[in-house]
Amino acid sequence: MKKFLLTLITLVLFTTGCLADELDLEKETRYQKQVMKIGFKILNANRIDKRVTFHYVNSKKVNAYAKGKSKSVVIYKGLLPYLDSENELAGIIGHEIAHNVDFHAGYFRRIAMGFAPKKYERKADIKAVDYLVKAGYDPVAMIVALNKLTGEPNWWECYASHPKGSKRLAYVYEYIFKKYPAYLIDNEYKKNIYYQNFLLTSKKDREKICKKFEKEKQKEMKKDAV
Ligand SMILES: [Zn+2]
Repeated sequence: MKKFLLTLITLVLFTTGCLADELDLEKETRYQKQVMKIGFKILNANRIDKRVTFHYVNSKKVNAYAKGKSKSVVIYKGLLPYLDSENELAGIIGHEIAHNVDFHAGYFRRIAMGFAPKKYERKADIKAVDYLVKAGYDPVAMIVALNKLTGEPNWWECYASHPKGSKRLAYVYEYIFKKYPAYLIDNEYKKNIYYQNFLLTSKKDREKICKKFEKEKQKEMKKDAV
């Protein structure tokens, strides 16, 4: 009887173990395919004629990066719990594709990226907005994803490779405000709590953007009048 029970327990453990592995593989396959699908969709819609490959890594790290040597985009599993839609994941992938396009631009561009990382982070955020729109995604997703993922460091910010969160959110918002205003008037994110939180915490920045925009408009009108 003991032997029988032992065999039964081993059998149950073994089969559930196998099942878990299979389920994991199914999940992993699904994630890898999704990352590739979004990546290639962005490349094609934006007519990016550089080769970029996409890799999903089963790691708890909350990270994504562009690999310079192999011109690939790497998305970590730890990032996924922070993202609620394909639009948001597309924003992150779009940002990394923009870095890859810079990597393709050659050795000197890479050196420039090393010297002025924040400038190129900003460029990648802005480029990602264009990529999203062309590929049929909602660019407000970029604001939503950044609001969830980016931090707000203080004095050491000048030593970091990325601009601080509120700055990134402000210039992404400004770019959408100027180039794709229709998305800010009416879109599915109006009721999104992360977007609402951005609106709540960015009041001053958005007022500045509005004033700056009005000034620019007035200047243009004066020019036209002359
Ligand atoms: Zn980046």
